[in-house]
Amino acid sequence: MRPKIAIVGFSCCEGCQIQFLNLGETLLNILGAADIVNFRFAKGENQAGPFDIAFVEGSIVAPEEVEALKEVREKSKLLIALGVCACCGGVQSIKNFLPHLEVRRRVYGNAKLEHEAAEEVHPIDDYVKVDHYIPGCPFDRKGFLDTLKLALMGKKPSPIDYNVCAECKLRENGCLLDKKIFCMGPVIRGGCNALCPTRNYPCEGCWGPSADAEGRIGAFLEILRAHSISKEEITLKFRKYAGSMKPFRGIASGHQDREAH
Ligand code: SF4
Ligand code: SF4
Ligand code: SF4
Repeated sequence: MRPKIAIVGFSCCEGCQIQFLNLGETLLNILGAADIVNFRFAKGENQAGPFDIAFVEGSIVAPEEVEALKEVREKSKLLIALGVCACCGGVQSIKNFLPHLEVRRRVYGNAKLEHEAAEEVHPIDDYVKVDHYIPGCPFDRKGFLDTLKLALMGKKPSPIDYNVCAECKLRENGCLLDKKIFCMGPVIRGGCNALCPTRNYPCEGCWGPSADAEGRIGAFLEILRAHSISKEEITLKFRKYAGSMKPFRGIASGHQDREAH
């Protein structure tokens, strides 16, 4: 029997589902080996399950989403988080650090809402077991295809245990931190092949914290302070994609003493 794939979206910009459609010819190859039976973004008729693999995009912001996510989990042999929103909360998790009513007023003014605005933003593994993570904003195509191939063979990909700096050094880039440019590479999970620093842009952190981020943060903060990078800039950068994740939460909340995280 051909494997059944679902692509399910929760609260986000839906850019990862567009990235999936952007796979182009590769997408046709996938369709040759598996059936995409649930993809509401692109298909009119969708099966309710069961699924061999469910790719889940977006963060969780409402009780209805929690229930829908749990249902997808129950129906799926393998559940894979797609994009930084699903993996780490994403950009919208910045609101977890701001007063709820102020955010609501700034976004919606005094409008009456059919559904009340979310108070908190969560990555999907706050509610269900996740078998594998493909972060990025949007997700990385190579990482996705490698994961899919292994999953179709019944294998699980190994987690990435190195940071962006490791890939940056392999590409023989000069270090932006040496030029006092605030690059998050030391504490961000590798896998994007140092996409931004290789183009002379600092890493903004869209793959979320590296496995060893907690151990590196103290030394990283010392370098940033030595370069006169302000406390506010550090706080905002740690908030940007994954501020609610445990390694970043303290700094994203504005606590930058080593003991505080
Ligand atoms: S990870 Fe980025 S591109 Fe994907 S849904 Fe979230 S915000 Fe959009
Ligand atoms: S440029 Fe950024 S990613 Fe590259 S080595 Fe320096 S800190 Fe690490
Ligand atoms: S270098 Fe950083 S910001 Fe750029 S794609 Fe990689 S993880 Fe994302």
